[in-house]
Amino acid sequence: MGGNLVLVVNSGSSSIKYQLLDPDSGTIAAAGLVERIGEDGGAIEHTADGRTLTEQVVIPDHTAGLRLAFEKFADTGHDLTAAGVTAVGHRVVHGGEVFYEPTLVDARVLAAIDELSALAPLHNPANVRGIAAVRTLLPDIPQVAVFDTAFFHGLPDAAKTYAIDAQVAAAHGIRRYGFHGTSHEYVSGRVAEFLNRPPESIDQIVFHLGNGASVSALRGGQPVDTSMGLTPLEGLVMGTRSGDLDPGIILHLMRTAHMDVNGVDRLLNRGSGLRGLAGVNDFRELRRLIGAGDAAARLAYDVYVHRLRHYLGAYLIELGGVDAITFTAGVGENNPDVRADTLAGLSRFGIAVDPDRNTARERTARRISPPDAKVEVLVVPTNEELAIARAAADLTQTA
Ligand code: ADP
Repeated sequence: MGGNLVLVVNSGSSSIKYQLLDPDSGTIAAAGLVERIGEDGGAIEHTADGRTLTEQVVIPDHTAGLRLAFEKFADTGHDLTAAGVTAVGHRVVHGGEVFYEPTLVDARVLAAIDELSALAPLHNPANVRGIAAVRTLLPDIPQVAVFDTAFFHGLPDAAKTYAIDAQVAAAHGIRRYGFHGTSHEYVSGRVAEFLNRPPESIDQIVFHLGNGASVSALRGGQPVDTSMGLTPLEGLVMGTRSGDLDPGIILHLMRTAHMDVNGVDRLLNRGSGLRGLAGVNDFRELRRLIGAGDAAARLAYDVYVHRLRHYLGAYLIELGGVDAITFTAGVGENNPDVRADTLAGLSRFGIAVDPDRNTARERTARRISPPDAKVEVLVVPTNEELAIARAAADLTQTA
């Protein structure tokens, strides 16, 4: 591997995920996860050249976590402070109205990302801590922020506007921003490559189904709608988040259950979705419970699929028909049942799933619709780290 490596950092409130990779080939030199930062027992797991190092140690803050990761890099032959790393790419959740391109980070940009914390209180402060820590450790290497909202910046007004008092909305930055943009952009681009067609010629729907989940509708490569909104809480049923609900439910809970803002936040972000309905948020666990005859797990699955079909129907009509429907991320890539059930009974729309193709165990981009189907149904693995690495490399090479 040459000297052109990018470090990608995804910093959460108590964890840091990182990858050191070649943005051209996508080859991963090293990757790891620092967990339980600021808690009693911290841990790091670092993998390089097929070797995994683990350590349990108290990690007081993000700087300590990254310093530990840098030690592991050095131990496995990648000294990040020596030559080799050309840029650091950071996943930043909320760019607000301000940031919609990959952005070189300086003190002013960092302050602006911090100011956007009101829109993403769970995410932006952690992103800021990660960026600040890397700036301390690698002061001479350019840092690039890549925003999860960026891809959806140009959503049509009708799709991005909430029907509330327009002045209140304007005063508080309330609009649909959309999230998982890096993944939706990467995967929809891969769909065009896979089909060997110019992106401008394809209308598509992309389901990103991970722990968080969202769906987007794209006309000719440009997003025209997406299910997440002001925050990543809206839309599909997720691992622990409710997705769509009647806003009156919140008022009802505040009035009758006397929940305060933190109680509602906890309920909707961490105690809902699959976990709220079935007690588990991991899809593999859910499948196991369904297999054991658990009625709550079955209902959770049915609600999950019902919501997917609801959005599929809406986006099919918004686009006036589609050329491709694609599934990605942990659940989308690995669950044939979800794909088959979401698209069941739609042959009159030219949409069908071939059972053998759907259950084939492959890890690369693939077609799961029958050969003669009008609509291409695809499974395309997402790779947000690679997309961030490429954005960071592009920006710093031309800067
Ligand atoms: P995130 O990046 O949002 O944390 P992922 O894209 O890793 O999430 O998706 C996590 C989800 O994917 C979990 O619900 C997990 O059960 C599911 N998943 C991952 N791998 C598999 C698999 N091999 N089979 C079934 N489900 C899987």
